[in-house]
Amino acid sequence: MAKNASERLYQHQVPMRDIVADEIRARIFDGRLPAGERLVERDLAESFGVSRHPVREALRVLQREGIVESLASRGLIVTSLSKRQVLDLYMIREALESVATREAALRVAEGAEHHLDATIAEAQAAVRDGDIEAAHAANARFHDELIALSGNEALEHMLEPILGRLHWLFRQVADVNSVVVEHARIAEAVTAGDAEWAATLARAHVLAYRNATMKLLFDEGTDAEPGSAGETVDQGDPVS
Ligand SMILES: [Zn+2]
Repeated sequence: MAKNASERLYQHQVPMRDIVADEIRARIFDGRLPAGERLVERDLAESFGVSRHPVREALRVLQREGIVESLASRGLIVTSLSKRQVLDLYMIREALESVATREAALRVAEGAEHHLDATIAEAQAAVRDGDIEAAHAANARFHDELIALSGNEALEHMLEPILGRLHWLFRQVADVNSVVVEHARIAEAVTAGDAEWAATLARAHVLAYRNATMKLLFDEGTDAEPGSAGETVDQGDPVS
């Protein structure tokens, strides 16, 4: 991870802000930055060896995503997510992403161009090569492409912070291969222009993510009830 980040620092096609945001997410995820930890712009800039400007921008992105929050007394800190908050995010994602996928299928039926098959092939190749990082990246891109394909910019803007906020959760889903298999099924329905089937598969896919996430974070079964909302989890907890 760190090696990737420092290599990417010198690739100009990725904005520095995004590289820094990814690295902060990684540190939150692996526990180097635990929930409640203060995030000091100057210290982060120093530890990354970059100027404060991209760090400030990255923190703004993470704040929009809800991974980082601002407390009047302490400045920016790493957020703790409650069970209720995680379920709420998945509920919104389920609704919006099934709509996006339906629209994507309709657009394809009307002749819209896309790279869904290439992205699936890339994810499959990464799984074959055992490159989990590349498989996750291709999987995340698959969702971005579906949403862009819907052609609904408002939907895209609404989903962006939610997907970003769930970004670190995706990586908790242990079986990257089954994710690729589900994506391939969705891609098949979308490219066939079968809008209702595509939406159904997209909804089932988000629910599978949700159940896997709830099991990992809160040790719950597949029927996670949104009733018990008191529990919280540190984003950096080792949750295996
Ligand atoms: Zn997915």
